[in-house]
Amino acid sequence: MEDIQQVIKESRKIVIKIGSNTLALADGTINRPFMDSFAQQCRNLIDAGKQVCLVSSGAGVAGVSTIHKWARKKDIHYRQALCSIGQVELMDQWRGAFSKQGLHIGQLLLTKEDFSDEHRSLNIRNTLFTLVDEGVIPIVNENDSVCCDEIRIGDNDNLSALTVILWGGDLLILFSDIDGVYDRSPKEDSGAKLIPIVEDIQDLRSKIKIGAANEFGTGGIETKIHAAEKTTVYGIPMILSSGKKENCLKALAEGTQPGTLFLGK
Ligand code: GLU
Repeated sequence: MEDIQQVIKESRKIVIKIGSNTLALADGTINRPFMDSFAQQCRNLIDAGKQVCLVSSGAGVAGVSTIHKWARKKDIHYRQALCSIGQVELMDQWRGAFSKQGLHIGQLLLTKEDFSDEHRSLNIRNTLFTLVDEGVIPIVNENDSVCCDEIRIGDNDNLSALTVILWGGDLLILFSDIDGVYDRSPKEDSGAKLIPIVEDIQDLRSKIKIGAANEFGTGGIETKIHAAEKTTVYGIPMILSSGKKENCLKALAEGTQPGTLFLGK
């Protein structure tokens, strides 16, 4: 945990991804007290000289809890419609939470194609720089309502990895519903042990059992490891930790919350 604390201390530009399971309560509604508290913790990081960019999931979940229907519809158009409804709700909640901290937010809805197109990615980069330089918090999500399955990034773990690389960030933090990477599934095996530091991802893959995705989120441990593979190639470390605990960001920065640190090469 000291290593995590040290890495956060040394990082200036930090991308933080918050998963749907962290943002949603057990009944599928958006956890507003969490967002308020998280915004305050971001404020504290900024006051300590850091720059913060968020990648927020939760559009799909927020869509269902706003419109109270279509939860079980698998049809792509309904799923996209839910995300378009939920994205507004999500940003409304984030705006409320950050305005209490005296901070503005800016929304960036991105697609896979945006990252592969030179001009678009340059524009995204410049927008991120401008927002952050002016003290505004960028909040990124996939542009779910325009992405069909063939052209989707698909999960925000990978989207946040692409974002931190594009922005030239120093660190990616993924908040999920697990404390980090375990040698076995902690849900199935009470003797499972948390792996605090990963230096060799290939070696990690050969040692652990990778399970299925969780309830509201799109990714599972696989997409998180994949995200770490992407960032560490660029020398950007990644931390995976639980967003379910109180003051998770503050606790992580103070070295009192467990997590898995993937070291940049
Ligand atoms: N973009 C999706 C949403 O906001 C989430 C993708 C993910 O869970 O990784 O609902």
